[in-house]
Amino acid sequence: MSADAAQEPRGKNGRAPDPLRVGGWMPMREYADDEHVDFAIVGTGAGGGTLACKLAEYGFSTVAFDAGPWWRPLEEFASDEDHQQKLYWTDERICDGDNPLQLGSNNSGKAVGGSMVHFAMVSLRFRPEWFKARTKLGYAVDWPLDWREMWHYYREVEQALSISGPVNYPWGPPRPRYPYRAHELNAAGLVLARGCEALGLKWTPTPLATLSAPRGIAHPCVYRGFCTIGCSTNAKQSALITWIPRAVRAGAEVRDLAMVGRIETDTTRLCTGVHYMREGQWRFQKARNVVVAGYAIETPRLLLISSNNWFPDGLANSSGLVGRNLMVQTNQAVWGKFDEEIRWYKGPP
Ligand SMILES: Cc1cc2nc3c(=O)[nH]c(=O)nc-3n(C[C@H](O)[C@H](O)[C@H](O)COP(=O)(O)OP(=O)(O)OC[C@H]3O[C@@H](n4cnc5c(N)ncnc54)[C@H](O)[C@@H]3O)c2cc1C
Repeated sequence: MSADAAQEPRGKNGRAPDPLRVGGWMPMREYADDEHVDFAIVGTGAGGGTLACKLAEYGFSTVAFDAGPWWRPLEEFASDEDHQQKLYWTDERICDGDNPLQLGSNNSGKAVGGSMVHFAMVSLRFRPEWFKARTKLGYAVDWPLDWREMWHYYREVEQALSISGPVNYPWGPPRPRYPYRAHELNAAGLVLARGCEALGLKWTPTPLATLSAPRGIAHPCVYRGFCTIGCSTNAKQSALITWIPRAVRAGAEVRDLAMVGRIETDTTRLCTGVHYMREGQWRFQKARNVVVAGYAIETPRLLLISSNNWFPDGLANSSGLVGRNLMVQTNQAVWGKFDEEIRWYKGPP
């Protein structure tokens, strides 16, 4: 086991942790700070990790930064809620307004792989009618693209994340098959299915980003539970174990424990790079393009604190809406009390 991931960066000296092999490393290309890379990406979660992979695979020079550590799930994750607090962004955040969000718990992640390291793996497709919300449902606005176009991309993501889903989905038009068979329902799912049957409602197992069959050297899910505090067996498919290793293999550099504090722009009003703190030092990475993928709170924060003479209200804020109307993820959940023992925490959600 190497040094504490929360204290010392692991992505350096030409190598990066290979999360799929105990003690494993993989070679990683590194860029100098004064090398103008094509893309600097802030955040390596669902957005930044995925983009780093695709950009590197298309041949762009890419450096992705994450404020959090680069964990090795097989060695460093435990079935223990307290221990796994280490995955969360618990730094103080202040939220204002009539109905402020409660922050400071598992609302978002701080690790290479971002919130996906502890997300619940639910992998739903947007329903066709939601792309025409205004026309068909009378609210919001219609999307500028058609559901068929989007479903083409779902296929690529579902393959990459090995989504396990039902063969027949009881709602909407016939859909492409999920790459892996659905998981067995967990105990809470069985209770819900029983309730649906009693009420005459259709139901189906939820498509999930966790392996239901072996893939390469990764084992399928063992139904140990505790999925939403980080999966210690790597059955769970997250940016940490899917997109990031692919990104590194394609030539991206990922800098862990690297907090970006400011985006710089020049007199042409274009980005020139990012200031970041790593190993106790402020450094500046030159970049032609900067992507901010730091989740719902840190993204607006970074855009706002990067204000300058040309952008006094922060970057990308011509609407004045950056940092307002804050929402983190929406969630569907039902709680109930039962006479029988449920053990809801076992198996994937
Ligand atoms: C408990 C929980 C359960 C969820 N369950 C599901 C689910 O079942 N299905 C689903 O589809 N979605 C789920 N989500 C939502 C999903 O995880 C997020 O929508 C998604 O991860 C957001 O991607 P992102 O790239 O915007 O941010 P994240 O994945 O959170 O990544 C942001 C990264 O940016 C880094 N960062 C931020 N600021 C900086 C900075 N200044 N410098 C350097 N690094 C920085 C952070 O450390 C973090 O690693 C869940 C979320 C949570 C919290």
